[in-house]
Amino acid sequence: MFCPKCGAMLKIKREKNKKYFSCSCGYTNRDIGDVRLKEEVKRDDKALDVVDDSSEPLPLTEEECPKCGHRKAYYWLVQMRGGDEADTKFFRCEQCKYTWREN
Ligand SMILES: [Zn+2]
Ligand SMILES: [Zn+2]
Repeated sequence: MFCPKCGAMLKIKREKNKKYFSCSCGYTNRDIGDVRLKEEVKRDDKALDVVDDSSEPLPLTEEECPKCGHRKAYYWLVQMRGGDEADTKFFRCEQCKYTWREN
């Protein structure tokens, strides 16, 4: 653990039940304690999940758009109710965003 201000090695200090890092330059990080650290990690994981969900691009496939004739479309699978039937494939035209399902 190094000081973000001056780069020197931080010293661990204790105050009542809290641990924190302090540096000879005056920098202290009182937020770091064992419990607090675990919370921070959890929150980071959640944030990452959200980012993954929203930023994950759909795969492109060669499928002709029935509307504009563009030959590339994004696709994804949707499990229909019942569960016996196979997943239904949906397409979205890369160009005009028209969305249709297979068959
Ligand atoms: Zn420092
Ligand atoms: Zn299209």
